[in-house]
Amino acid sequence: MAVPTGEVVARPMVARACGCMREFQHYKVDKYRAQRLAKFQGTRCEDCVAKLNEQQKQAAAQLPKKGEAFQALPTGTQLALSRLPDGTWGGSLTAEGRSVTGTGESPHGLTIALARQWVLEARGPGEAPKPTAAAPSPKPPAAPKPLPAGVRKP
Ligand SMILES: [Zn+2]
Repeated sequence: MAVPTGEVVARPMVARACGCMREFQHYKVDKYRAQRLAKFQGTRCEDCVAKLNEQQKQAAAQLPKKGEAFQALPTGTQLALSRLPDGTWGGSLTAEGRSVTGTGESPHGLTIALARQWVLEARGPGEAPKPTAAAPSPKPPAAPKPLPAGVRKP
């Protein structure tokens, strides 16, 4: 499905998967316009792809290094891994009363991912929800409605 090289006859603005409006080129001769348009609408624009890549890079940079994560795990840390029907692995890591779970392609990769996840949560970004007075107060329980006079319970 190569991009055609003929004359561009229209350039409508089309919303992409990310919500941005981008110019979609209508070529005079284009057998695959419907498919190209579907792909265009189903994917993010270049700007958002770049933004997303940057975010993922930053998120990855915040992850503790492999060795660092294992070092940070406390004594008594327990790992449980099990092979899943589709051949991937599921597992959980429990330490200090807190568990993280995940799935991975290999037990090795999964172990690293779980260790990182646990350490990341243990560090906390400093935005753990605190109990505050702003929480809505629980509503008083609604009084049971009296049955209308003359109606008997079955
Ligand atoms: Zn976008």
